[in-house]
Amino acid sequence: MSDTLHEMTAAELGEALAAGKTSAVEIARSFIARAEAVDEKVHAFLHRDDEDFLAQAHASDERRSKGESLGPLDGVPVAVKDVISVKGQPLTAASRILENYVSPYDATVIVKLKHAGALVWGRLNLDEFAMGSSTENSAYGATNNPWDLACVPGGSSGGSAAAVAAREAPLTLGSDTGGSIRQPAALCGVVGMKPTYGMVSRYGLAAFASSLDQIGPFSQTVEDAALLLQTISGHDPLDSTSYPAEVPDYHRALAEKPGPLKLGLPKEFFGEAIDEEVRKLVDEAIQFYRDDGHEVIEISLPMTDLSIPVYYLIATAEASSNLARYDGIRYTHRSDRAENAIDVYAKSRGEGFGEEVKRRCILGAYALSSGYYDAYYLRAQKARTLIRRDFEKAFEQVDAILTPTSPTPAFRQGERNEDPIAMYLSDVFTISTNLAGLPALSVPCGFTEAGLPVGLHIIGQAFKETDLLRVANAYDTVHSFGRKVPQL
Ligand code: GLN
Repeated sequence: MSDTLHEMTAAELGEALAAGKTSAVEIARSFIARAEAVDEKVHAFLHRDDEDFLAQAHASDERRSKGESLGPLDGVPVAVKDVISVKGQPLTAASRILENYVSPYDATVIVKLKHAGALVWGRLNLDEFAMGSSTENSAYGATNNPWDLACVPGGSSGGSAAAVAAREAPLTLGSDTGGSIRQPAALCGVVGMKPTYGMVSRYGLAAFASSLDQIGPFSQTVEDAALLLQTISGHDPLDSTSYPAEVPDYHRALAEKPGPLKLGLPKEFFGEAIDEEVRKLVDEAIQFYRDDGHEVIEISLPMTDLSIPVYYLIATAEASSNLARYDGIRYTHRSDRAENAIDVYAKSRGEGFGEEVKRRCILGAYALSSGYYDAYYLRAQKARTLIRRDFEKAFEQVDAILTPTSPTPAFRQGERNEDPIAMYLSDVFTISTNLAGLPALSVPCGFTEAGLPVGLHIIGQAFKETDLLRVANAYDTVHSFGRKVPQL
């Protein structure tokens, strides 16, 4: 069994552990060996602490031998995007400015994972401070798409998506501000989910745009996403925006098939320039739902056309404020060329931040500046309300909304680097759900002729993750495209 452990889902690993067919140590060793074999090509990891990983695995086996197993994730590895704090581990956010930073505490999601016995392992690559759609904005080198190493894995959680696709981890965590979980999940052929805003604590997540950021799971299957989401969700007094609701048993809920549903196709989204093969595969997935007895109707989300400009005002405004803390005084990098106090700020930030982060800080500061605030930031907030209302209206008619996750499959490294607008358009289908705070996921729905994966995007109603997971699972249990393994 040990040579195939790394290809198993989290649910299968949990069952094998419970049945005594394997041990957490054996599992940890299998993933270490896999990362050793393929990560030179993929570069999903920025850092691995294998010794700590094995120590956690030993502890898990010890518990189990005493009959004290902590549940279905006890002994199952979870690798983490390098913006989520794990006590004693580095956190760089893929930025030079945090090159030597070590987290002094655990993020709430990590505390929850440790309580569940999961093996928290490794730091996964991303676009610097989660700004980007290709993972090329990492200060530590790009991640490569396991399906075609010359292509990007998407971003910003490119390392998290690629690690699951390359079978270097059964589960990973990412963060999604405008699409950063769903878009890379689609481009790497795995499941990626952004929960409702407030469902998962942001405490211990390096903030990009606080009104949009959510942590969420990557996995091979929808079932595994349910297992991981269940473990990390729930109210947290340490995050004032976290929602005080009971966490349903998402995993158990999957046993029930969704009744006949009404599914909406927003005409604005299908009018966009969608790659032909993406359109065909998404159409086939939609046809599956029709054949499965659901009604599919056209809907309209007229204000979502504004999503990209609205997002790039609100997200940059919040980022310029959130990133002010990286000032060369606290945390890490301090320029040794500074001659006075102002220099410490300016030179440390100038040397520490990459191009895209600087561009966003400048844009955001401009949008918030006196005299421009009303014209930009305030207007963007008003438009955001209109976008949210579009979804509220749509959900009076339908139970879930289907769109492509990304307008194209994975693109080649370098292809969109010189053109920020082309890069920003990668998220044209995902950004509006962050603005509206809604839960959404990407489930793999097939491969192009060139062998690149495509994702179906499903948007659900606020705090109805159960329904969303059921809709996705109905498709996923029949097709299981996320279980295909790339040749590496
Ligand atoms: N690609 C989008 C951006 O560059 C979204 C990023 C994200 O969700 N973190 O901002």
